[in-house]
Amino acid sequence: MSAPVNITVGSHLWVEDPEVAWIDGEVFRIDGQEIHVKTTNGKKVVTDVSKVFLRDIEAPTVGVNDMTKLTYVHEPGVMQNLATRYEHNEIYTYAGNILIAINPFQNLPHLFDTRTMERYKGAAFGELSPHVFAVADVAYRSMINEGKSNSILVSGEGGAGKTETTKKLMEYLAHLDGRSGTEGRTVEQVLKSNPVLEAFGNAKTVQNKNSSRFGKFVKIQFDKSGRISGAAIQTYLLERSRVCQISYPDRNYHCFYLLCAAPSEDIAEYKLGSPESFHYLNQSNCYELDGVNDAHEYLATRRAMDIVGISKQEQEAIFRIVAAILHLGNIEFAKGKEIDTSVIKDESRFHLNMAAELLMCNTPGLEDALIKRVKRVKKGNVEEVITKTLDPAAAVFSRDGLAKTIYSRLFDWLVDKINNSIGQDPNSKSVIGLLDIYGFESFECNSFEQFCINFANEKLQQHFNQQVFKMEQEEYTKEEINWSYIEFVDNQDVLDLIEKRGGIISHLDDACKFPKSTHKTFAQELYTSFTNHKRFSKPKVSDTDHTDFIISHCVGKVTYQADQFLNKNKDYVVAEHQELLTASKFPFIASLFPPLPEESSKSSKFYSIGAGFKLQLQSLMETLKETEPHYIRCVKPNNSLKPAIFENFNVINQLRCGSVVDAIRISSAGYATGRTFYEFLERFDFLDPEVLKGNYDDKVACRMILDKMGLKGYQIGKTKVFLKASQMAELDARRMKVL
Ligand code: ADP
Ligand code: MG
Repeated sequence: MSAPVNITVGSHLWVEDPEVAWIDGEVFRIDGQEIHVKTTNGKKVVTDVSKVFLRDIEAPTVGVNDMTKLTYVHEPGVMQNLATRYEHNEIYTYAGNILIAINPFQNLPHLFDTRTMERYKGAAFGELSPHVFAVADVAYRSMINEGKSNSILVSGEGGAGKTETTKKLMEYLAHLDGRSGTEGRTVEQVLKSNPVLEAFGNAKTVQNKNSSRFGKFVKIQFDKSGRISGAAIQTYLLERSRVCQISYPDRNYHCFYLLCAAPSEDIAEYKLGSPESFHYLNQSNCYELDGVNDAHEYLATRRAMDIVGISKQEQEAIFRIVAAILHLGNIEFAKGKEIDTSVIKDESRFHLNMAAELLMCNTPGLEDALIKRVKRVKKGNVEEVITKTLDPAAAVFSRDGLAKTIYSRLFDWLVDKINNSIGQDPNSKSVIGLLDIYGFESFECNSFEQFCINFANEKLQQHFNQQVFKMEQEEYTKEEINWSYIEFVDNQDVLDLIEKRGGIISHLDDACKFPKSTHKTFAQELYTSFTNHKRFSKPKVSDTDHTDFIISHCVGKVTYQADQFLNKNKDYVVAEHQELLTASKFPFIASLFPPLPEESSKSSKFYSIGAGFKLQLQSLMETLKETEPHYIRCVKPNNSLKPAIFENFNVINQLRCGSVVDAIRISSAGYATGRTFYEFLERFDFLDPEVLKGNYDDKVACRMILDKMGLKGYQIGKTKVFLKASQMAELDARRMKVL
């Protein structure tokens, strides 16, 4: 951040404040680099000139709806602007072409009703107040008029409002389509895919009571007449560990609780009880969600399933599997007679039987798959089969692995089913892609999931940088001004560290392939390979046994704990589990586990989740590159998830993570985004009395003022004046003197 120019006694500034992040005040003394400021909360602060920012005392009291119009683009200015608007329930603000959306945490029905949708239909961008509908409308018009695919990328931290925003975008596109009832079947199916996927892929977390635990890219296809003709949903990395492991105040996936609240015939059929009676649910003492009736939601999910084309029979099968997983989780193990072996506890036999019955596999078969492993050992030419019994801890691990595998296959099936049922339009030339994907995460403990999520965000950040620069520079071309290419902060080096050959993912895959590797050898490999990498470091802690590593992401450093990386990167179905489920008499289950080719069925084949995710991201990026992107940055104003609370530090942190200020500044790195001749004259015409007197053409008048002020290097385009940010500040300072 550069120091502001023109600070004098009496200047209005922003200075850092431990309570509200930035506070405004007035300079009463200057000692060289030291600035003495009297703040509006009555403090006297002495600070360095490099740490203060000029405040625009003429900034409109209601804020500006596009922050490139701010006189000074800096963090406090942006924060203040957003806070002011939020106070007036203006949750949307533009930062140039980017829409910032602050979660209202309350229903604002008037903001999303049909009348509002109608108003935004076909309106020029920027004509009406900032809105998600405006972004969707621009994307739609651009697709229709230019025949180009568009994408809307929604980002932000957990609970910031990404999923709700994506749903609003979909609703708006459905509204533009205009069809309903049987005529609008595809439209209905696209909309109803949301509640179905949410029932199985969303859960309550600390951050959000309806948190999506998977990433999603929905491509909505349109036919020649601009109507929705198909859709394809791609999902990313469902959080599998949640099926078996949760802690307060989280819940497991919604579907488990919905099923426990199902009508009594269903409960009786699946021999279910209250959620408290199931291990996979009672690890967290949170069962109910405020304002949500699970019994009602169960029926609503069933209805949504009807609409997306999941037959009653398939629905039975799905919930049967959900019930089987609950019973599976209640199977407990005791130590066996022999050392390091286990047996199923007598009191959990009921659940073993129920799980086997629901999965339609025989009970001894399930029992063996849970606690026994068969090893084939070659002795000379003879192959010997050795059966080993797992100890209780390994048996639990095996049980949980089975539950996770079944659940994730079920989820994939749902996505496939929805895609098949909605159908893809082979003739569609243009699509609008909606991306609702997890934002950067940095917690106290960061594991493989955070690593993947942050990797995805680096990818998106790179795409964002390239696009924002490109868009900016296209404006220069359109205005026909001279410009030279602007360098931007590139995060290619972080991406190389993660995904290139010899990068972290390759090291991890190598470690997963060698039976002798442990998280310690893996971490050691990383330490030696990347000693001099400027994006990698080893934490300086006294504990020599630790296996943490730090990546300097584009938004800051994140410390990862390597200990679960190997386990979590390995996606394989234990051969015994595979065999059991392939042989199920329940066709639905058997179809989720098609037989493997002879070769690979002998051993549990390792598949790298990290490498798979890397490929998915590559393909996503290729798709995105072919589209015209639009960005929506969702911001969570507070962690209490309550309306009308705007926590400055919290918001600033997200603005930093989303590079929001940078993005606005990127626009200012070249020229503080152009002001139209009219806007410029409105603010500065009195600087040149000549201009006020005469009746000049706007363009000529602008040039006269700029020359009179002795500014160099400004540019005049076809409709706008382009100034450097510092020149804008200087003009303002002059203006203040005259006023
Ligand atoms: P994310 O997908 O970013 O994790 P969600 O979209 O699920 O977050 O939003 C979290 C919660 O915030 C929602 O359950 C809802 O209560 C509230 N919320 C988000 N956006 C809106 C909105 N536009 N209007 C009202 N409430 C909202
Ligand atoms: Mg979400």
